[in-house]
Amino acid sequence: MDEGRFATRCIHAGQKPDPTTGAIMTPIYATSTYVQEKPGVHKGFDYSRTNNPTRAALEANLAALEGAAHGLAFSSGCGAGDTLLGGLLAKGDHVVSGNDVYGGTYRLFKRVFEKFGVEFTLVDTSTPGAVEKAWRKNTKLLWVETPSNPLLRITDLKAVCGFAKRNGAISVVDNTFATPALQNPLEQGATVVLHSTTKYLGGHSDTVGGALVMNDDALWEKLKYFQNAIGATPGPFDAWLVLRGTKTLHVRVQRHCENARRIAEWLSKRKDVTEIHYPGLKSDPGHAVAKKQMKDFGGMISFVLKGSLERSVKFISSTKLFALAESLGGVESLIEHPASMTHGSIPRAERIAAGLQDGLIRLSVGIEDVDDLIGDLEQALAAR
Ligand SMILES: *Cc1c(COP(=O)(O)O)cnc(C)c1O
Repeated sequence: MDEGRFATRCIHAGQKPDPTTGAIMTPIYATSTYVQEKPGVHKGFDYSRTNNPTRAALEANLAALEGAAHGLAFSSGCGAGDTLLGGLLAKGDHVVSGNDVYGGTYRLFKRVFEKFGVEFTLVDTSTPGAVEKAWRKNTKLLWVETPSNPLLRITDLKAVCGFAKRNGAISVVDNTFATPALQNPLEQGATVVLHSTTKYLGGHSDTVGGALVMNDDALWEKLKYFQNAIGATPGPFDAWLVLRGTKTLHVRVQRHCENARRIAEWLSKRKDVTEIHYPGLKSDPGHAVAKKQMKDFGGMISFVLKGSLERSVKFISSTKLFALAESLGGVESLIEHPASMTHGSIPRAERIAAGLQDGLIRLSVGIEDVDDLIGDLEQALAAR
């Protein structure tokens, strides 16, 4: 059942009762190899790096969530990105991307692919005209994160993906923050959607994984080839955990959005908050575009506190419910300091130039009782 509305697809897409036992849940096929009848004659599976039934169920599910024809699952979001760039680009190719992408994505660009002669121009893709200005004759790929990490900037997907397409380039949208529950980039003109399934899709902070989702058959064949050739594939237990997570994605995301909205409104009224990034606030520069391309505004907020860096550090070390940790998108609330944690791999000068201040604090708002969450932030703000 790969059809139906979003909530139905979350629960059923790609998953049929096990044909041998009737088990309603897709089994964890813990096997590396498969017995063949004659050389090359088998049931569609020959080696688990190439294919595995649990992973195949996840790939079909992820494709259906984005309303796409094809999905590929990886051992991490970075593994998905590595396969995409490594499979599609060659020396001398140029990439345009955002200047506040996830720190690990930045590292993949600058520390891995620049070494092989791939060139990158990083700009604020949310500024109209910025992508066009950064474009070169050898630009082969546009990589966009919206909402971006950690500044929650919103890029107009129709505009930039349309531009990339008209110029013969592939556009990749990292949809980790929005999730397919809120935003479907393929419908907005993107060629490929990338996910870190570690975050909202897994949803319980108990697994690391990634995905690429697309409609184009030839591109899928190519990336499937590189998925196997490079080998950053998830084991069956990890694939199963993500499948378990996506079953509740729609209800979790709904609550993440409700809680984040309440907290953002509460923060926006406080005099000790000098800057707040959350596309759901009418005052946010990305609000209008977010309203156009997203169903709701997500569970992520970042903000800056008045006063010294020490004060911010004291605050993020004083929360009791919000756990001080990297990552995001789990049922529990997390708080972190991008400059020293998730985005520590970006040199300070580049971080500051991109608008990421030393004191920026990022929240991943969980699905606990929102009044308890606000109470926790309040007591931590009072800590001196
Ligand atoms: C975490 C993250 C990634 C990388 O995913 P991993 O699963 O940690 O490798 C990529 N993009 C965004 C937006 C992320 O938050």
